Amino acid sequence: MGMSAKLRCTVTEVRESGAGNYFVELRPQTRVPRFRAGQFLHLTLDEYDPAGGFWPESRVFSIASKPGAETLTIVYSVKGRYTKRMEGSLVPGLEVWVKLPFGDFVIDSRAGACEDVVLIAGGTGVSPFIPFLEDLVPGESATRRIRLYYGLRRPEYLLFGGLLARASGCGAIDLRIWIEDGMLSGDALPPLASVRAGRLDPSLALEESRDLAEPIFFISGPPAMIARFKSALLGTGIEGRRIQIDEWE
Ligand SMILES: Cc1cc2nc3c(=O)[nH]c(=O)nc-3n(C[C@H](O)[C@H](O)[C@H](O)COP(=O)(O)OP(=O)(O)OC[C@H]3O[C@@H](n4cnc5c(N)ncnc54)[C@H](O)[C@@H]3O)c2cc1C
Repeated sequence: MGMSAKLRCTVTEVRESGAGNYFVELRPQTRVPRFRAGQFLHLTLDEYDPAGGFWPESRVFSIASKPGAETLTIVYSVKGRYTKRMEGSLVPGLEVWVKLPFGDFVIDSRAGACEDVVLIAGGTGVSPFIPFLEDLVPGESATRRIRLYYGLRRPEYLLFGGLLARASGCGAIDLRIWIEDGMLSGDALPPLASVRAGRLDPSLALEESRDLAEPIFFISGPPAMIARFKSALLGTGIEGRRIQIDEWE
């Protein structure tokens, strides 16, 4: 990984997607350092002095936009004190500081180009997978299979529905959605996706992965979800290398 950089950004868009879930688009005022699909950034609402000041309190968010894009996109859900503050103050026109890139939850470096992958996302945990999915080309499924399990609390929390519909509709990914409360129907339902009621179920995901060739599992979401999946996978004797996590504190 290269050096990280601190960038002043202008908030260009804030969009609510289901109560307490927000897309935020940031336009950096200086060049964005090279990053890879799956990495995250730190965002602070406080002033930062680039002439040697301390980095203020910040939180980390997966980068949901593609490397090379002009803007940076994150999605956050209001959880605790800091994200509550974000909800109250992040509006278009506001200037914020970010630093990036961080992390190594990079599918292309943790799985071989021909290895099957099972991506498991809880809520906004789908974000780090988005830049990877955006880059898929329809023929890719000929060399490897990509399965995405995506767990939502309610249907209106579906994020990146347009992109998921395209990736699923052309067969680039095998999309399996789980919804705890309610159902997706009509236009909101991505083509060829399967939708089930309830919570993401590690034993079922494992059982279903038997039709794949020793897939690498990538797990992203709230800590409790990650813990559940990790222990279920380890419990079946899957080697550690095949379980990759992007743990959220
Ligand atoms: C790799 C990674 C990627 C993530 N990506 C996303 C994402 O894309 N979208 C999303 O919604 N969330 C993401 N998160 C979670 C996010 O960073 C916040 O931790 C989460 O939203 C908790 O909410 P909060 O900050 O409002 O809670 P708070 O109650 O404000 O804080 C939660 C935790 O932050 C830590 N903390 C407390 N005070 C400080 C401080 N002064 N300085 C630094 N840390 C402190 C503590 O561990 C505390 O338990 C990600 C987390 C990780 C680790």
